[in-house]
Amino acid sequence: MPERPDLEYVVPVLQRLLKGQLIQAASVHNPVVMRQMVLGEVSELLVGSTIQGIKRRAHFVHFQLSGPVDLVISPMLAGRFDHVEPKARKRKDVAFVLGFGEMNLRYRDDVQMGKVYLVPREQLKEIPGFAKIGVDVLGKAFTLEKLTQITKKDRRQVKVFLMDKTKLDSMGNAYADEVLFAAGIHPKVRVTELSLDQIANLHDAIVSVLKTSRTIIRRRKPPLDQKLRDHVKVRNRRGQPCPSCGTAIRAAGVHGHDAFFCPKCQPDTKGRGFVDWSRIPGRS
Ligand SMILES: [Zn+2]
Repeated sequence: MPERPDLEYVVPVLQRLLKGQLIQAASVHNPVVMRQMVLGEVSELLVGSTIQGIKRRAHFVHFQLSGPVDLVISPMLAGRFDHVEPKARKRKDVAFVLGFGEMNLRYRDDVQMGKVYLVPREQLKEIPGFAKIGVDVLGKAFTLEKLTQITKKDRRQVKVFLMDKTKLDSMGNAYADEVLFAAGIHPKVRVTELSLDQIANLHDAIVSVLKTSRTIIRRRKPPLDQKLRDHVKVRNRRGQPCPSCGTAIRAAGVHGHDAFFCPKCQPDTKGRGFVDWSRIPGRS
């Protein structure tokens, strides 16, 4: 579920609800998601710690604790949080629970792709993907010059580049599709093939799509466990009319990810994956 615009809403809500709270209970309901980087019982490692702060770091949610270990959650595709009373209806997808007396924080994950790290502070950098995070695309450092510099000599398909969190903080599958639609760039184009104009369009699209989406989600204030995506223009809209030109949205595989795009607004100038019949000898 969560990408940057989602986490930029969820993390401040968690911070408001939980900062300063004492962890009174901790329990694992689905050990598949646990990544324990220290020996010991989960409850012994966490109970008695106070939550000092909750921060987003790229796609991670970092719970800074007063005790010996920190808690870092990477919700990946389907992870979500619920802040509920302990007696609230039990759900099958609950993987991990922190108890704060009158309220619980549940981490739910129905596809079990997320990861819950219990990690001594000095080992945070050992969490895969945690140490090296790319430029903050909504910060002052993300200039057109910066994007031009980091795209140089990158031969990957542009969608794959956009999702590389060591280059950009940050985008996942859904918002990479939205950004490419806004920039009018086909997801399979190689980064080295982008013109200077296209890089400029990409820069504008990254900033505007992520800012606008963050604003929409913050304004509508969805429940913590619900993903708000009805504002997207192409993602998961295969066959529906493009909001700009009416052409049916297509889907394609890009390096193991699915990509949704408008074939007219995001033309594939090199003809990749499309047969140009006019060039076949003997055909008129
Ligand atoms: Zn279109």
